[in-house]
Amino acid sequence: MRIDLHTHSRASDGTDTPAELVRAAAQAGLDVVAITDHDTADGWVEAATAAADAGITLVPGMEISTGHRGRSVHLLAYLPDPTSPPLADELTRVLAGRESRVPEMVERLRRLGIEISTDDVSAAAHGAAATGRPHIADALVTLGVVADRTEAFDRYLGAGRPAYVNRYAVPLELAVQLVGEAGGVSVVAHPWGRGGLGRPDEATLAHLHDVGLAGIEVDHQDHDPATRELLRAMARDIGLVATGSSDYHGTGKVDHDLGCNTTAPEEYERLMELARGAAARSDRVTPVVTSGPATGTA
Ligand code: AMP
Ligand code: ZN
Ligand code: FE
Ligand code: FE
Repeated sequence: MRIDLHTHSRASDGTDTPAELVRAAAQAGLDVVAITDHDTADGWVEAATAAADAGITLVPGMEISTGHRGRSVHLLAYLPDPTSPPLADELTRVLAGRESRVPEMVERLRRLGIEISTDDVSAAAHGAAATGRPHIADALVTLGVVADRTEAFDRYLGAGRPAYVNRYAVPLELAVQLVGEAGGVSVVAHPWGRGGLGRPDEATLAHLHDVGLAGIEVDHQDHDPATRELLRAMARDIGLVATGSSDYHGTGKVDHDLGCNTTAPEEYERLMELARGAAARSDRVTPVVTSGPATGTA
């Protein structure tokens, strides 16, 4: 069983459509893939349809933009009902913040002498539900200002760079609570990487576990081998599920190929068991895991 629990489509800042993403996951030999676009469930229906055709199991999820102690923290949420009102309200706030910062960042770029418009960014976003800095980066690539997304972040878009504008993020513990109430489970993405907790100690992770966090992403390209072993040991001590995933963005992120990191089947089963418990405790109609004909039930 090869399981990849963190991927992005064009619903946010990946470059594949949800159907292309799912087909690519099947092609890469994965048995289970989760679609986890930033702050949106927009790709779920298309991905589920494609999964049933491609013979792969699809776990609907999202990567929620949260904040904790002044840091931006990415929280993977699996199988929540995205229409649960308190969760939906917070996602709407994040998406509104994503939209409103585009003209502000474009204005900053224009003041730096770059001829870019919000239309250029819209064209690069291909109708994404969640607009992100990578779309501004893609517009800069198209205009010939930079060579790739990385150069765009390094020169203009990264935190502390001249075109950077902050946006709303959900308080981390609130997000964990709202995902649980929506019948889903949450996992901190790349805790020691960019958009992570910043070298979290065991007490911090234990506290998050107490407030309902299900797991941490251990095997991720942002973590070196020593970091992975340390995080795996902490997860084991605390009782957190340890996941692994690619954080695939299509051609938008190099060295993040589908299946480059995977989740152990036992860890996946524990996570799905926790999700079933959360779904049963919630009063929400939660989404289903879609199984393709070749893999049977998951
Ligand atoms: P945003 O969602 O607008 O805050 O942008 C964050 C996204 O940009 C994440 O998905 C990252 O993968 C991507 N990103 C962040 N920093 C960089 C960077 N230095 N180079 C390339 N992509 C980045
Ligand atoms: Zn992304
Ligand atoms: Fe992330
Ligand atoms: Fe991601």
